[in-house]
Amino acid sequence: MVNYSTSNKTIFQIPSTSLKINGSNSLYPVGRVFCIGTNYQNHAVEMGSNLTSEPTFFMKPFNSVCQIDELTLPDNAKNVHHEVELVVCLKAGGKNINLKDAKKYIYGYAVGLDLTKRDVQNYLKKNKKSWELSKVFDFSAPLSKIEKLEKVIIDDNEISLKINGVVKQKSNISKMIYSVEFLISYLSKQMMLFPGDLIFTGTPEGVGPIKQGDLVSAKIEGISELEIKIF
Ligand code: MN
Repeated sequence: MVNYSTSNKTIFQIPSTSLKINGSNSLYPVGRVFCIGTNYQNHAVEMGSNLTSEPTFFMKPFNSVCQIDELTLPDNAKNVHHEVELVVCLKAGGKNINLKDAKKYIYGYAVGLDLTKRDVQNYLKKNKKSWELSKVFDFSAPLSKIEKLEKVIIDDNEISLKINGVVKQKSNISKMIYSVEFLISYLSKQMMLFPGDLIFTGTPEGVGPIKQGDLVSAKIEGISELEIKIF
């Protein structure tokens, strides 16, 4: 684990993002937002993605993370997809973290949506360009309240997403190809991790569009749930 310094002598302040914690009045400060591209076999199949021996990562801006119950789709949104994911919230930083120590770095978990402009992503993929633009729009990472680690049992929890009461995604986090511990360890070998870093751990199969008027309900059994009305 590492110490790091902060300074209040900057020429101006930048906005910060913080998250509500279940059963606490304190807030969780958001640092960086790592996301894993493919972590469920059946989602790889539906996307036509090749599974490689190492996970694929991308990032979202920290200020795309939000806790909201109403979401206005971005301007010019043609095909915004839902991706329900288990989100890991770190409380400590470090480098070269061992698999067996990785759990010590976790503050808690949340349910998150990795909202994706699928039309933009498909276009960029087809043209062999980075598809970051499909992932980074405002409010593209809604989250539930954070559930503290000690209140969560991570075992074979069902992960699901409904739209207007109809099940669209349903799987189990035990089907993740790369475990939470593996992802923390792996990332910490690429760069220093910090407290406040989030990891979106990938979505199971069943992704699809959300549209105006939809009520999106996402849940991971034993962890948390969120419900968002789409405008
Ligand atoms: Mn995703």
